[in-house]
Amino acid sequence: MTASTASSRYDEALDAIAAGNPSHASVIGSLRGLVAARAELAESLDIPGLTALLEKDKSLFLQGAPLLPKARIPLDAKVLKRCRERLVPEMARAFPKAAKAIAALDVAFVSGRMRLPARLKRYLVSESLPEAKALKSVGTTPEVAMLYLSQIAKVLAEAVGRAVGGHQVLDGWTQGYCPVCGGAPEISYLEGKEGRRRLGCSLCATTWRYTRVACPSCQSTDHDQIELFYLDGKPQERAEACHVCKRYILHVDRRENATAFIPALEPLGLLHLDMIMQGKGFTPASAEPAVAG
Ligand SMILES: [Zn+2]
Ligand SMILES: [Zn+2]
Repeated sequence: MTASTASSRYDEALDAIAAGNPSHASVIGSLRGLVAARAELAESLDIPGLTALLEKDKSLFLQGAPLLPKARIPLDAKVLKRCRERLVPEMARAFPKAAKAIAALDVAFVSGRMRLPARLKRYLVSESLPEAKALKSVGTTPEVAMLYLSQIAKVLAEAVGRAVGGHQVLDGWTQGYCPVCGGAPEISYLEGKEGRRRLGCSLCATTWRYTRVACPSCQSTDHDQIELFYLDGKPQERAEACHVCKRYILHVDRRENATAFIPALEPLGLLHLDMIMQGKGFTPASAEPAVAG
């Protein structure tokens, strides 16, 4: 598939989401350029050394070891340069109020005042950001650092996800986290006549089959502890909350729906459910687990 067909597929899926959720249309509109840029990069990036890194013992995989844990995604200088050059202008367009702080952080990385590979590595390992003081000294903020690093991390992980999707069979995976990068899911959906359930990774956008009866975050199968939330007249878009682990996952029923669909984009149409669930004290399934100790 060429880069341009990838971005038009993304455009169609965003159109469908905006049509179904007109109140989010302006947010979706402002993110369009950034989403298209990510899709094009993820389709076309060639990550060096990937094939060797993905050689994995099948029995370890079946026991729950992801193919390429996100902390081990290769950070190649040329690849990072391409990501920066394509994504930074789109980030500024999507978030015009932060454009100056985005440019300032980019200058810090290009000039070497901050080291992008090291910062990205720490972000991939534990979502940690440079200290606020260091960010302030180069004219930027933690929010902008989070945006910048998360967009590049997502593109690299999606490029890995696509490469794997073409070569490896993910069947046999039974975990609630991603078989490719180990990331947490951000979307759950039902598809096909039989209503098979799949989860979509919040980082690399890989999707995988998962049992319909368990919470992806804690694997609890106690039905009495799962509560469903949806708006009147829209039961096909809902949040499934687990009272055991206090997490929720966004969920869409795609069995009767033939509109363009890219699972990783669906959360953009479900922002209202995020607000409701977080207001009730639940944490998204996609949030990193709290580090023990
Ligand atoms: Zn993943
Ligand atoms: Zn749970």
